[in-house]
Amino acid sequence: MNSCLCGGFFQGLINYFIAPYLSQNTKNISIIALMSERTIIHMDLDAFFVAVECKKKPELKGLPLIVGGSSRRGVVAACSYEARKFGVHSAMPMYLALQLCPDAKVISGDMEAYSQNSHLVTEIIADRAPLFEKASIDEFYIDATGMDRFFGTFKWSVELRKKIIKESGLPISMALSVNKLVSKVATAEFKPNAEKQIPAGEEKDFLGPLSIEKIPMVGKQTASFLYDMGVRTVATLRDMPVKFLTSAFGKNGISLWNKAHGIDDSPVVSYTEQKSISTESTFDTDTIDVKRLKSILIAMVEKVAFQLREQKKLTSCVTVKIRYSNFDTETKQIHISYTSSDHIILRVVQELFDKLYNRRMLIRLVGVRLSNLVHGSQQISLFDDTEEDINLYEAMDFIKHKHGTDKLIRATTLDVNKRVRMEMNLFKGKVSKNLLG
Ligand SMILES: [Mg+2]
Repeated sequence: MNSCLCGGFFQGLINYFIAPYLSQNTKNISIIALMSERTIIHMDLDAFFVAVECKKKPELKGLPLIVGGSSRRGVVAACSYEARKFGVHSAMPMYLALQLCPDAKVISGDMEAYSQNSHLVTEIIADRAPLFEKASIDEFYIDATGMDRFFGTFKWSVELRKKIIKESGLPISMALSVNKLVSKVATAEFKPNAEKQIPAGEEKDFLGPLSIEKIPMVGKQTASFLYDMGVRTVATLRDMPVKFLTSAFGKNGISLWNKAHGIDDSPVVSYTEQKSISTESTFDTDTIDVKRLKSILIAMVEKVAFQLREQKKLTSCVTVKIRYSNFDTETKQIHISYTSSDHIILRVVQELFDKLYNRRMLIRLVGVRLSNLVHGSQQISLFDDTEEDINLYEAMDFIKHKHGTDKLIRATTLDVNKRVRMEMNLFKGKVSKNLLG
């Protein structure tokens, strides 16, 4: 607590005396430069889905486990370290995984349990950390800059890790460094049960010998491009001229060069500040036609859920808003298990609307908002879906992406009259902070 106050006091001095003389951009950069080195902790639950399953049924511990679609055409959403030894990995077709590891026990996913446990860990961190970001369902960043003088940040983070393990019953790894990138790479490198510190100034030494694929932004395509040129380690990548990287990868080339040098200024974004996705529509003439309103809500859900998947995010809070013709505005929200699926969000939205709309008065506006967003779309949709389902979803999103969201719509909205269709085309889904506030 003292450290927060002190850090805040220091930043306050900068803000008060120096910042007014700087432009917004230089202000941010200058404040970062003036502050001592940052201290960023990355925490990542080990084999999270599998760990939750073992928490539910301790007899599963130590067995090769696969969480995923149980049908033969399903895919692997997650697997235990024991299964990984056989070459099983996530997103692999189930039949292939079972060929590699025939004795593996297959468990279908339990999103509700994963969401509950994710919230439990979030609360433990929120209770103690000065500033934290929930990067995905099982991953957190903590900005502990300025704590060192008082506590010894590494000791503090080790204690926090122990507390999480004790209170949640789930294994978690952590690493600490001067930025998000290096901490994340270190957690991945030393997990499971990692407790690692990369001291300031040693970022390059740590990253140098690692494979280029360990850098989060390097996907398969980038990696094979670099491999073809003989670039295998981060150290070799670092020696490439930045000019060459920008000509090969455009803007991403600079980012790649920075990452190879262990440079990453991206801030820890407070959990509560993460944006929501919302859309709303005001009607030309107020309406009481429930069928029409519901059709519009369906179209809205399709739109925001698509945006959610485009941003590779999941939501765990859905809000519906209605405004009556007399401008009375009412909202209702509900917390749900993390999802990005149209059909789940749709069911919730319809339930909320039914609860909300009980006055039989003319409505002039309806809106839908998805909040409590975290990253991680892929792994979640893998639970119940078969390979074909996933391919279908991807194909649908591809068409929407290319030709517009109104080109592919749910059959249940087909009976919506032409006028409503026109209204639906007018929707402007937008990312906003507190639109439905
Ligand atoms: Mg994890």
